[in-house]
Amino acid sequence: MLTVAEAKGIILLAVRTRPPRAVPLADALDCVLAQDVTSPVDLPLRDNSAVDGYAVRASDVAGANENNLIHLRVIAEVPAGVAATVGLEPQSCIRIFTGAPIPPGADAVVMQEDTHPHHEGYIAAAESVETGENIRRAGDDVTKNEVVLRAGALLGPSQLGMAAAVGVAQLVVYPRPRVGVLVTGAEIIEPGRPLCEGQIHDSNSYALCAFVKQAGCEPVELGIADDTREDLHEKIDYGLSECDVVVTVGGVSVGEYDLVKDVLAELGCEQKLWKIAMRPGKPFVFGAREEKLVFGLPGNPVSAAVTFLVLVRPALLKMRGLTEIELPSLPAETAEDFVNSGDRLHYMRAQLQRDGEKWLVRPMPRQGSHIISSLTNANCLVEVPEASTIPRGHLVKAMRLSGGE
Ligand code: AMP
Ligand code: MG
Repeated sequence: MLTVAEAKGIILLAVRTRPPRAVPLADALDCVLAQDVTSPVDLPLRDNSAVDGYAVRASDVAGANENNLIHLRVIAEVPAGVAATVGLEPQSCIRIFTGAPIPPGADAVVMQEDTHPHHEGYIAAAESVETGENIRRAGDDVTKNEVVLRAGALLGPSQLGMAAAVGVAQLVVYPRPRVGVLVTGAEIIEPGRPLCEGQIHDSNSYALCAFVKQAGCEPVELGIADDTREDLHEKIDYGLSECDVVVTVGGVSVGEYDLVKDVLAELGCEQKLWKIAMRPGKPFVFGAREEKLVFGLPGNPVSAAVTFLVLVRPALLKMRGLTEIELPSLPAETAEDFVNSGDRLHYMRAQLQRDGEKWLVRPMPRQGSHIISSLTNANCLVEVPEASTIPRGHLVKAMRLSGGE
């Protein structure tokens, strides 16, 4: 049986980032940038006012204060969005608003709060200003031809804001992979519908589609397949035609109804691995048809979730062009023994808790792969090697899960 590390190696070797594509800014959140973005402009574009006030020549208001008011004629007004055409004359000023271009001849702005209205068409400056005061200079933030976003950057709100600020409306990114999720099993029924004898509600679709979304990919629900070759064939085939990745759940073990592997072979998928020495999640299959990848996860909800996080998530993140592909983790001290008497690497669900300066971690009391609550109430996973005990007081790597805090 393959170790988790070997399986991960095989999977990541088969993963390619998707070809870059230009997308509108509104679709680029959480995508990885594939090309540097160079600013075609200075930012600010031109000298502009940092305040509401009066554009002046600093020398005209030298020495102004409350006891020495200096009167200036207001010869024009420049709101934001309007070009400054009128130039300043001696002993005059121009009414200006935040963001408006500095009129020719002005070299500073007196804040409105430092002035008093005077008789019609005049103001009195009660404060002097230095040359350049209250002016935001062209190119202060970004200069023309400067690289404002580097290839490889993960695009968050501020990165999209910068692209927009320099006037770029589209970005070349690695597109978000489309990930089909197909659950399998004649007993699986959508939540909200009543169950007959032997049936259970589908929990995996919901958890997995949410995991896919959290991995920055686009989930595509492929529905519930019966345990028949025909139904599996049709639904996986559709998934392969529509998606970059297909994740199936259930039907990958050794029972007569575990047909996913056979159907993948029928569909021309090369099986790259099956069965991994991990718990939960031994019966896991991975295959590929050209660029398309298929992951067959075991059906038990905890096994499905853990195999997704350990084996599928890193592949999806790599496809998105990311290099940080592992679950975020932190060192934590075991508050109890972590015991693995089995012969496979155990991903134990655990609870991480702050304790002063350090983090303490405790295993969930019940670790069965059918105990959904062990995952709901956990906030991390801890790897415990086969046939071993990590005693209390040891440092381990706690791999963080979202939720369950
Ligand atoms: P399988 O891997 O198909 O043998 O399924 C293993 C166990 O997981 C069985 O008890 C299934 O009923 C259960 N299971 C499979 N798929 C789902 C699902 N989508 N939601 C909840 N439980 C499931
Ligand atoms: Mg099944």
